[in-house]
Amino acid sequence: MRVAVIGVQGDVEEHVIVTKKALKNLKVDGEVVATRKAGVVARSDAVIIPGGESTTISKLIFSNSIAEKILQLAYENKPVMGTCAGLILLSKHGDEQVAKTNTKLLGLMDIWVKRNAFGRQRESFQVRLNVKGIGDYDAVFIRAPAIVKAEKNVDVLATFENYIVAARQGKILALAFHPELTNDTRVHEYFLKLAFD
Ligand code: GLN
Repeated sequence: MRVAVIGVQGDVEEHVIVTKKALKNLKVDGEVVATRKAGVVARSDAVIIPGGESTTISKLIFSNSIAEKILQLAYENKPVMGTCAGLILLSKHGDEQVAKTNTKLLGLMDIWVKRNAFGRQRESFQVRLNVKGIGDYDAVFIRAPAIVKAEKNVDVLATFENYIVAARQGKILALAFHPELTNDTRVHEYFLKLAFD
């Protein structure tokens, strides 16, 4: 299988490394490519949108038809994962910051998102979560967004401080934290397995 990591901005290389490890652990033959090319995204079996700056990533993916190709893959029922800024891009409903910055969203999940939900005083922190389908998981949050509301068709996988911080809708997976910044490959394994469901 080929996994594309959208490589316009953010923690791209970290996702590539963890995804490669996860493929190996699952004994699945595959390649992982960081890409800025719509054509490469179109020929992939799964896509990851990394954390970074949602406004910047949005501009770049909508200006060169990467966004269109991600939507196409999602409609073909291929797995798409967004982490942190990637979660913001997956959502259908942004907050006032998203509106103010004119950030275009992919709208693949029926969720309401809040940028920088945990405030300035807690720019980054680590916390142990219980993630449905995975178990106890030490999650790293960096200027993280959160999901404030979700439609019933969204499966809530983890919550923290009354916010939803991990969710799934079909094969679309959204995480407020950074699974690429720890040595734990379980989130990426969970994601890759969706390709075979
Ligand atoms: N605060 C960033 C945003 O709103 C997301 C932070 C991250 O991806 N680490 O785009």
